[in-house]
Amino acid sequence: MKSLYQQLICCEITKKEYYELWATKKGYKSWTDYINYRNHITGRYNPRKKQTIKDRFWSKVDKKGEDECWEWKGGKGRYGMFWLKDRNIQSHIIAYLLSNNVNITSRNVVIMHKCDNKLCCNPKHLILGTQKDNIQDMLNKGRDNYLTGDEWRKARYNR
Ligand SMILES: [Zn+2]
Repeated sequence: MKSLYQQLICCEITKKEYYELWATKKGYKSWTDYINYRNHITGRYNPRKKQTIKDRFWSKVDKKGEDECWEWKGGKGRYGMFWLKDRNIQSHIIAYLLSNNVNITSRNVVIMHKCDNKLCCNPKHLILGTQKDNIQDMLNKGRDNYLTGDEWRKARYNR
């Protein structure tokens, strides 16, 4: 059972004021001051807003030796995916753009992997090409996903 004083407090001061009061009683300047302090302790103090896109991007890449593959650790589909503004963009494209400072607008242009590792974001393994190059590259390496009629039938029956 609440005391009369507690009931009065409930009516008279809003929750926010209560928190403010609580924080000042504990020796903080304000509730926000307390939250900042707590986040600082738990290491959550660096709000995302203060991170540049570059920082946020590279923090999700497993950087290894200069010539090794740097795999994407963030969300992925067939390729790594990086959320930029309001849409998902393939992470290797961002890696290329960030390290080459180019602004690509043509839809015909593709960023290809020299290493064939779709999740790789090492700028050294990425080259700029056209959609035509990309298809030619796939054919040269024999990794096109289009099965011939016979292969398709075999694949179906062997499932
Ligand atoms: Zn690679």
